[in-house]
Amino acid sequence: MADDCVFCKIVAGEIPATAVYQDDETFAFADLNPQAPTHVLVVPKQHFTDIVELSRDAKAAAAMLNGIRATAEASGLTEFRSVFNTGAEAGQSVFHVHAHVLGGRPMGWPPG
Ligand code: AMP
Ligand code: ZN
Repeated sequence: MADDCVFCKIVAGEIPATAVYQDDETFAFADLNPQAPTHVLVVPKQHFTDIVELSRDAKAAAAMLNGIRATAEASGLTEFRSVFNTGAEAGQSVFHVHAHVLGGRPMGWPPG
């Protein structure tokens, strides 16, 4: 667990969250500020800063993809958007890697 990491604290149960899915390696919970009818965050239970760091651990990276699929299934979504913001300029505000899984409405492109 990284010091002062809000998502590590959610994984540890120290900060409450609405769980959507979990397995041995991933945890998924509702985003506090939803941008779509369904907006869930999928995180690895182990702390990685971003997708660049996560990608160097093949097992954890594969577990994230599985967690995204399972979260979409648990949310009843067959069509959804998944987003990894990497770095502040790209919109990352929590530096524990997370996939946004968004669905339940049509999605525009390009993203802002
Ligand atoms: P990002 O800007 O890509 O780093 O996304 C961070 C996301 O975390 C935002 O969509 C926030 O609404 C969400 N968020 C921050 N704190 C919490 C929390 N305690 N519980 C649930 N979602 C959170
Ligand atoms: Zn963390």
